[in-house]
Amino acid sequence: MVLCRTRTGITDLARPGPSFGRRHVEPTPVSDREFVMSVPADSVQTPPVRPCPNCGRDWGQGLACQFCRQVAGLPQGVPLATPALRFGEYLLEGVLIVVTLVIGWLIWSLFAFANGQTPAKQVLGMRCVKLRTEQTATWGTMFLREAIAKPVIGLLAWVTFGIVYFWLLWDRNTQQLWDKMVDTIVVKDPQDAMRPAEQKSDAEDWASTAGSPAGE
Ligand SMILES: [Zn+2]
Repeated sequence: MVLCRTRTGITDLARPGPSFGRRHVEPTPVSDREFVMSVPADSVQTPPVRPCPNCGRDWGQGLACQFCRQVAGLPQGVPLATPALRFGEYLLEGVLIVVTLVIGWLIWSLFAFANGQTPAKQVLGMRCVKLRTEQTATWGTMFLREAIAKPVIGLLAWVTFGIVYFWLLWDRNTQQLWDKMVDTIVVKDPQDAMRPAEQKSDAEDWASTAGSPAGE
């Protein structure tokens, strides 16, 4: 439709010059110009380049939706965790360490790692996901992240007056430096959509037989 009208507009411009008077010709090219000008403006606005499957708004350019933070390639309803939630998690982790007298937290961690979680992440419905594979972080990745990468960055933080602990604030994927070391992102997964299948069945068996969640 659009192309036909502009083409006829162009051909009209070419024809009337020699045969018709200019008074009749002038109105048509003006209207054609307005029409042509309006077409690219609409084409820029209407295709919201990539509509988000979660919220329907324009996705933007990043790994996650710029509005709802839904992560590309992950189940619907699994967004990147916000910096505020991440900092809240750090506080809760500290509380849990104290409440469980450290040893309880350590043992809990060894179980939580299998689900790509730490104790505080488990409580808050958060999870670590491997960026490249889009899969829940394995036990080994979690161990490297918590036991190796974090202490290394901790040393760096000691030198930089703790500034590196705020790295996620300016990181486009909300990654901390220890996330970058082991290639993880942290997501919200309140529905347990990314819980490893085997672990889920184990936990259900545990819950049915013992009658209480393994988390405590
Ligand atoms: Zn969205």
